[in-house]
Amino acid sequence: MVYKRAKISLKGLVQGVGFRPFVYRLATALNLKGFVLNDGKGVLIEVEGNENKVALFLKRLHTEKPPNARIISQELEFLPPKGYKNFEIKGSQRNGEREVLVLPDLATCEDCLTELFNPADRRYMYPFINCTNCGPRFTIIESLPYDRPNTSMKKFKMCPACLREYTDPKSRRFHAQPNACKECGPQLYYWEKGKITTQRDKAFEKLIEELKRGKIVAVKGIGGFHLICNATDEKVVSLLRERKKRREKPFAVMFRDLDQLMEYANPTQLEKALLISPERPIVLVEKRKELAPSVAPKLKKVGAFLPYSPLHHMILRAVDFPVVATSANLSEEPIVKDNEEAISKLKDLADAIVLHDRDIVRRCDDSVVKVVGGVPLYIRRSRGVVPSPILLPFRLKRKVLAVGGTLKNTFAIAWNDKVILSQHIGDIENLSTLKVFEESVKDLMNLYDFVPDLVVCDMHPRYETTRFAKTLPYKVIQMQHHHAHAVSCMAENGLQGEVLAVTWDGTGFGLDKTVWGGEFLISTYTSFRRFFHFKNFKLLGGEKAVKEPARVALSLLFELYGEKVLSLDLPAVKFYNSTERRLLYKVWKVGFNNPLTSSVGRLFDGVASLLGICQKVSYEGEAAMLVEDLYDPSVRDFYDFILEGDQVDWKPIIEGILKDRKDPPKAVSRFINTLARIVLEVALKGEREKVCLSGGVMQNDPLVRKIKELLTKEGFKVYTHQKVPSGDGGISLGQAVFGGLIDL
Ligand code: ZN
Ligand code: ZN
Ligand code: FE
Repeated sequence: MVYKRAKISLKGLVQGVGFRPFVYRLATALNLKGFVLNDGKGVLIEVEGNENKVALFLKRLHTEKPPNARIISQELEFLPPKGYKNFEIKGSQRNGEREVLVLPDLATCEDCLTELFNPADRRYMYPFINCTNCGPRFTIIESLPYDRPNTSMKKFKMCPACLREYTDPKSRRFHAQPNACKECGPQLYYWEKGKITTQRDKAFEKLIEELKRGKIVAVKGIGGFHLICNATDEKVVSLLRERKKRREKPFAVMFRDLDQLMEYANPTQLEKALLISPERPIVLVEKRKELAPSVAPKLKKVGAFLPYSPLHHMILRAVDFPVVATSANLSEEPIVKDNEEAISKLKDLADAIVLHDRDIVRRCDDSVVKVVGGVPLYIRRSRGVVPSPILLPFRLKRKVLAVGGTLKNTFAIAWNDKVILSQHIGDIENLSTLKVFEESVKDLMNLYDFVPDLVVCDMHPRYETTRFAKTLPYKVIQMQHHHAHAVSCMAENGLQGEVLAVTWDGTGFGLDKTVWGGEFLISTYTSFRRFFHFKNFKLLGGEKAVKEPARVALSLLFELYGEKVLSLDLPAVKFYNSTERRLLYKVWKVGFNNPLTSSVGRLFDGVASLLGICQKVSYEGEAAMLVEDLYDPSVRDFYDFILEGDQVDWKPIIEGILKDRKDPPKAVSRFINTLARIVLEVALKGEREKVCLSGGVMQNDPLVRKIKELLTKEGFKVYTHQKVPSGDGGISLGQAVFGGLIDL
């Protein structure tokens, strides 16, 4: 019998997921000796014993690893045996470079759920139950290494029963840092009318009573507070809209389980898998039976998700209806996370507030996923996913801080072959979001002991993120917005060489200082040229046109027909009275405050207005979503278009839409088919095999499907986003990779 010793060093998501007890159990079951420990890089293991057993250990290490563990790399060495007497879990070692990855927050696992609802268990109905396979991580960590004193659990002293589990390698709660129970852990508090009126089990009972009575309750969760109410009760949902001053932007709905969800929606197999994944994102699914009409007015899809904290499970089992669970914030402000903040900001939005005393260290909104072109696409990448790294198939030359864009902001830190994107920060348009952005940048850099060699920001001179970057004591370079979209898509797909990047969105600052958004770039990681773009049109009133699709429609019409548009019988024209019309015509003609744009996002708005679908939006992306809902896959034909020089002339498309305007589904379908045809024609001219699709417009499922279908048939390879948003939430990845590779 050959005796062997193996030394194994693992990197990845291997701390805080129950890896050491798993190794302990596996090694002892195979009668191997040695040790396992956490170090600054990940997990270090030595096992020695029978050669076959060691081989088996190495195999099962990967096939049977804990569900949330992710091994990114393994170094393996065989050494002469040392004669270990037993197998032990050794104390953590801190050494060298910080390579440990912080885990995202994990949805409650099945084992914990069973205990939660077992009356005989000591954690029966305890809303903070967790173990090494589940529970909060990213939102409770103050600093690394991930040990209890470095988390917001530090103020809770474990009772003897919890401590026993915590120190027992055979327990599922061995070194589960947030481990707690009713005796020793966090508790619920019920706040109403200016004070805390009850707590613990009573607070939960009160919460359920109020929800059943049709009240709105703010409930502290994992990454912030939710506003919760009965999603089938129109009265309370419309009241919530009124209080939140949120006209039509859809609310997300939390369902008890897949069975309840399927009463109201028709998820596909893939959508079901996403719904039950440990990330527990909000997934856009097709409606089946109407919830309260105000939940997601006019739309075919609704954002649905399943409980991911023990408290959510308890709530959804105690009421017999699905609940609206929307981020609790004042409109346009970041999600509320602290108790004091909740009382001061939410007291007028909610009838009562359920607090708890485990602090949320960093806010983290729910993630949102939509299946686009047959693959899941993050509309928002945040709680449950962040801060998992995006791994690159190459190494960066330097450490980069990428500050991202100004809408749907995320930022990123990057080093070696890793990019860590921040949680969703949101639209940095007011002081409170700017403050949260600045704090979050400092926070993520502190957490990873990160000092950048270079900072990358957008070229837009008026982005708050650009201004912020320039205040930092590091070298700063600027990157064109659509190039960042392109590189983001290339990087997550690990592409090399030149690609044709189709980057369509609402707005991005162009090299010629116009507003780009209908771009075809020939791109590498470090350079690009504008190969093709949509012909410019004027944005009447600049920013105002973004909120008012009718302005875009008028601009397109003026371009085509001049002054006689003023008397046309079209919804876009009739949206304005005759004085307003004439004024807009004058603005268009004289050229005061009407920047030029090539934006395809705006073209979608214009089409929505021409077809009478939407003249004014109450939230970003509304017109595009309404248009997408009308697409009919049985319509196969498309409008004429002209490629002239390096431009796409949209005029014949708009003429076609006007002719079809009595049949919006047909017009919409032909419009989207036309856009896909245009991509094909430009791709044929571009002669690059790889075509990347990025930008917010590429959240449009029928468009992406059609482009993939047409281009694949012609032998192109089409790449889309899966790991980061195609919209502006993904550009920090592009900026980070550009900054890490460019020659300075
Ligand atoms: Zn668990
Ligand atoms: Zn305890
Ligand atoms: Fe963009």
